[in-house]
Amino acid sequence: MEHVNYLPSNFNYNSPGATSDALKQSIVYKLMFIVGKHPEVADKHDWLNATLFAVRDRIVERQLNATTAQLDQDSRQVYYLSMEFLIGRTLSNVLISLNIYNEIAEALKELGLNIDDIVNEEDDPGLGNGGLGRLAACFLDSLTSLGLPGRGYGIRYDYGMFTQKIIDGQQVESPDNWLEYGNAWEFKRHHLRYKIKFGGRIQQEGNKTKWLDTEHILACAYDQLIPGYEINFTNTLRLWRAQTSKEINLGKFNQGNYLEAVAEKNSSENVSRVLYPNDSTDSGKELRLRQEYFLVSATIQDILRRHLKIHDTFTNLHEKAAIHLNDTHPVLAIPELIRILVDEHKMSFQDAWTITKQTFSYTNHTLMSEALETWPVDMLGRVLPRHLQIIFDINDVFLQAVRDRFPNDTDLLGRVSIIDEAHGRKVRMAWLAVIACHKINGVSALHSQLMVDSLFADFAKIYPERFCNKTNGVTPRRWIALANPSLSKVFDTHLKGNWRRDLSLLAGLNQFKNDENVLNALTESKLENKKRLANYIAEHLNTVVNPNCLFDVQIKRIHEYKRQLLNVLHVITRYNRIIQDPDAPIVPRVVIFAGKAASSYYVAKQIIHLINDVAQIINNDPRAFNKLKVVFIPNYSVSLAQIVIPAADLSEQISLAGTEASGTGNMKFALNGALTIGTLDGANVEMLENVGDENIFIFGNTAEQVEALRSKGYNPREFFDKDEELRQVLSQIANGTFSPFEPHRYMGLFDNLVNFGDYYQLLADYRSYIDMQDEVDKHYQNKDKWAQSVLSNIANMGYFSSDRTIQEYADDIWKIKPVNLA
Ligand SMILES: *Cc1c(COP(=O)(O)O)cnc(C)c1O
Repeated sequence: MEHVNYLPSNFNYNSPGATSDALKQSIVYKLMFIVGKHPEVADKHDWLNATLFAVRDRIVERQLNATTAQLDQDSRQVYYLSMEFLIGRTLSNVLISLNIYNEIAEALKELGLNIDDIVNEEDDPGLGNGGLGRLAACFLDSLTSLGLPGRGYGIRYDYGMFTQKIIDGQQVESPDNWLEYGNAWEFKRHHLRYKIKFGGRIQQEGNKTKWLDTEHILACAYDQLIPGYEINFTNTLRLWRAQTSKEINLGKFNQGNYLEAVAEKNSSENVSRVLYPNDSTDSGKELRLRQEYFLVSATIQDILRRHLKIHDTFTNLHEKAAIHLNDTHPVLAIPELIRILVDEHKMSFQDAWTITKQTFSYTNHTLMSEALETWPVDMLGRVLPRHLQIIFDINDVFLQAVRDRFPNDTDLLGRVSIIDEAHGRKVRMAWLAVIACHKINGVSALHSQLMVDSLFADFAKIYPERFCNKTNGVTPRRWIALANPSLSKVFDTHLKGNWRRDLSLLAGLNQFKNDENVLNALTESKLENKKRLANYIAEHLNTVVNPNCLFDVQIKRIHEYKRQLLNVLHVITRYNRIIQDPDAPIVPRVVIFAGKAASSYYVAKQIIHLINDVAQIINNDPRAFNKLKVVFIPNYSVSLAQIVIPAADLSEQISLAGTEASGTGNMKFALNGALTIGTLDGANVEMLENVGDENIFIFGNTAEQVEALRSKGYNPREFFDKDEELRQVLSQIANGTFSPFEPHRYMGLFDNLVNFGDYYQLLADYRSYIDMQDEVDKHYQNKDKWAQSVLSNIANMGYFSSDRTIQEYADDIWKIKPVNLA
């Protein structure tokens, strides 16, 4: 491709310079001419924005380089579609990528500012619920750091995940107005707008289908540059925001019906107003369906527009584009692509279907039935009648093929049909994904196995070659370099090469297993991080915790399957033992919780309340002073995780085996030198294989045992009756020991466990959990042994870098290669 030389050939991409002097100049310049403030009156947020603008310039240079190289090479790209991107703060991350953290710190210092204050001034963009959104963010970081071409596509919600406060022990939600002071990091692309259609009806004209009488809104693009680690390359995260389409309002506006016109404007813009705060459950709401379609329609239009700029046909689309679906939320992209190719570009259904099947891939994130998305046929037909019709067409073609191949298995058709007739005619989005995608992956070895054994067993018989595993990982840039400077220093001192780029280098620590120096350095780094967290807790919760205690941490979304309640049973057991035998030696612990409950999830909110009630009783009981403390830190977020995880000694990963698809929190903790107490669930299984069973505390039933127990008829009463310690704890919860002013407050929780079947089998795992916690105490009392286990954990966790994960996706699923960079 020919290029005009817009810039002189000797143009230096680093022209603004990255010395602290040059950066200081840029920051002041941006403050005055972009933010429009005089340095003397600027507040912290003004300085933050000025710094972001100054740093963004240095990233734009990289973007120009990336764009030119990509256009020249016309390489195949991945498009990663996700309803959530939980990216965390940008400033600190980009400083690590550009390797100018110290220079900016120096520049800010000369301006009379402290870099920590400026970094902490940034709002967390809370555009995700938890693990799924955070995975998408780690993936973009790795994709870019590996020089692989791709784009993230998501929604620019006006309000992200709600802010959580704890008032009188209970969760209180308030809106997260993260855009209140603007978002200096993004570029609004005014010209990039697509019309999104809803509703209406379809009309058949010969063999052509028309979708008529639709309502319209516009999707407007906002880009965030994703920096890669020390590489002259960037990728883009493109987020869509809903805007009212002028056409629909003009009529009413001209009739003078101003209020109605404005009301309509507001309601159509609702599509990108707020993130649904449900994690791992299906909300089933029509607005959510509209949000999902809004994302995929804008995205597919955008992908096709870009393709047509370079090519004059769509027949090679699959050679240039790999479209990845992060869970089923963006699955409507499949019928949307077919609709556009067939209805707007006159392709045959057969050809469109063939291209589609070579273009899409899908990640399954859960096997739990309550989380599997389905849409009532009625609702889908009302909101997207043309798409429903295409789904029926896909289903017909598919079922015909199945009938031909398995003529004798008559039940099979009903089981694999996209339409679930047995439960009130619903469209099973996961089924559509499996039928249309050339690759379907799970997110840990165990989950991928269970996926083909259970949920997709029929499909695994039909399409065995489609299913694979891609074990999750996390980015070492954010989760070590940024979150844990003191540990990074230890790594830099003792490891050869740059672990930030190649996390397998951590294995180099294995040779220091008996090196006092290194072991002490690890222990000291941990203590420093625990002091940092203790200060945070003192400042925000007015609670004093002693950094010399064992910090026992469970932070993640509050969900019954994650079993925070099991952790509470241990806390109360421990408390009872302290009371019963005050002179027994004990390892002092601080038990730390954090996590949000979905706003409509009553049981999860009860669990938060109970944790806080238990904390209230224990923390105010002098008999437990210096022995046990319980802390619930409000408003779990990426930034909070960055403070808490490096300070943990013990990581609680105690979900019921077979329920947590992978987990990524588990990886962050172990990489930061916490030992894990966990079940054989998700990626815990592979962590065990990597770190060795003497360095991890595994307890509880296996996924197989859980299933066996369930099918033979699990009776939690048996465990209640035979275990005295357990009975005492549960009775205390039931009788109001922790809620004396409302003794029956937790009757419901008690009944769920003892009388209503204990679905997540807490009672079955209680004894082995408690016994394993005793083992943790023993291990911790031997400081040398503990330090060696910490080292072994860190050294053998290199596998869990998202760089490794993304390299596997690139090789096995997307078939993409790094861009050749100048
Ligand atoms: C890593 C992370 C998660 C996922 O944690 P799990 O323990 O795997 O559920 C959720 N939220 C945030 C903010 C995270 O950083």
